[in-house]
Amino acid sequence: MFETLSQRLRAAVDRLRGRGRISEEDLRSTLREIRVALLEADVNFEVAKGFVQRVQEKALGKAVLESLTPAEQILTVVYEELVEMLGGEARQPVLKSEGNLWFMVGLQGSGKTTTSGKLALFYKSKGRRPLLVAADTQRPAAREQLRILGERIGVPVLEVADGEPPETTRARLRQHLTFDYRDLVIVDTAGRLQVDEALMEELYRLKVALGPSETFLVVDAMTGQEALSVSRAFEERIGVTGLVLTKLDGDARGGAALSARYVTGKPIYFAGVSEKLEGLEPFYPDRLAQRILGMGDLQTLLERAKQAELEAPQKDPKDITLEDLIAQMRQMRKMGSFSEILAMIPGLSRMLPPGFTVDEKQLRRMEAIVLSMTPKERRDPRILNASRRRRIAAGSGTSVQEVNRLIKTFEDTKQLLKTLAKQRGRGFFR
Ligand code: GDP
Repeated sequence: MFETLSQRLRAAVDRLRGRGRISEEDLRSTLREIRVALLEADVNFEVAKGFVQRVQEKALGKAVLESLTPAEQILTVVYEELVEMLGGEARQPVLKSEGNLWFMVGLQGSGKTTTSGKLALFYKSKGRRPLLVAADTQRPAAREQLRILGERIGVPVLEVADGEPPETTRARLRQHLTFDYRDLVIVDTAGRLQVDEALMEELYRLKVALGPSETFLVVDAMTGQEALSVSRAFEERIGVTGLVLTKLDGDARGGAALSARYVTGKPIYFAGVSEKLEGLEPFYPDRLAQRILGMGDLQTLLERAKQAELEAPQKDPKDITLEDLIAQMRQMRKMGSFSEILAMIPGLSRMLPPGFTVDEKQLRRMEAIVLSMTPKERRDPRILNASRRRRIAAGSGTSVQEVNRLIKTFEDTKQLLKTLAKQRGRGFFR
């Protein structure tokens, strides 16, 4: 799933790659492509609109137009927005030490029963004692399906009777729990092919009777925009605390599912990724966004570092010289431009202030200054008096001020490294 979206988004960003500065028109056309990519993947119209608007605002804020690496900058913004759209931080349902009762709701065929079984297995393997409740009072076949699942995973199943009133179900559940201790009760409720009032009423009454601690809405990612109106209906009528997206292993476009979190305002707790009972994964917005955007970049970075045989200096900070500084800069340059390297470090580009870029020219001038020094000067900048500084400035085609600034920066950095090394131990730098 999400392959088309992935390809289109990457193509939109890649068109900017390897280019210097871009024009406002370039940015606009990239944003247009992103919007089309989202809509073609079936992302909800409003969600896509808001997405592109925020990308535009952030891109302008980050001065993408002035940046020398517009593709990386835009990619970062798109990634951030994608993570945001998927819910930001990963979230898990509340799980107390006991007395957990989870209510599973959703349309028939959404994967509700399968997901109930998957959840029971998932938490059983984490040492919990789940109980499944087959609560469809009208369809014996649905209850039987859960009973079979329960047998397969070794989890008991309490079945309601045909037409059983919610109060009776509550009493029977209480009774069951007095002789069979369970800390997590998962209630697989009735589903219909469409949202209908009678179903909603039945679910609502059962919910009031049982007082669940979490209410999961199971959303079939293959069903497109329909899934969103269904989600809204369940949220309004029953109240939902979190979502499970099922069938993410399918080949549908899936954009609607990606909008579900935004449309309902509820976190996505889990994703169903296969028909098998093991096919349930906690949902990580950042990982999915990385996958969609093809950000295998940390991998690339590590590979390049290996190729460049880059090694952290094994020296004590107080022994670091200007020669080490240059050696490091040269080695790192083999890996690509500094901006490129920074953009490849997951998380780092997000921590840098908006509009941050590395001035490569500045770095080259620094290198020229150091190269104009004698080996003795490089090892011990303290001997650099005024006439030496003038000579170095002339030799490197820079100014005395620049030479002064470099030496000052070097001394400050050394001081900072010393302080940090004291605070965190030297392993930190390795
Ligand atoms: P319910 O009517 O909502 O209880 O839906 P079921 O649990 O019976 O699931 C309907 C169909 O979807 C079944 O054939 C399941 O095997 C299948 N299914 C459920 N979850 C997934 C999933 O994550 N991936 C795939 N490929 N199939 C799933």
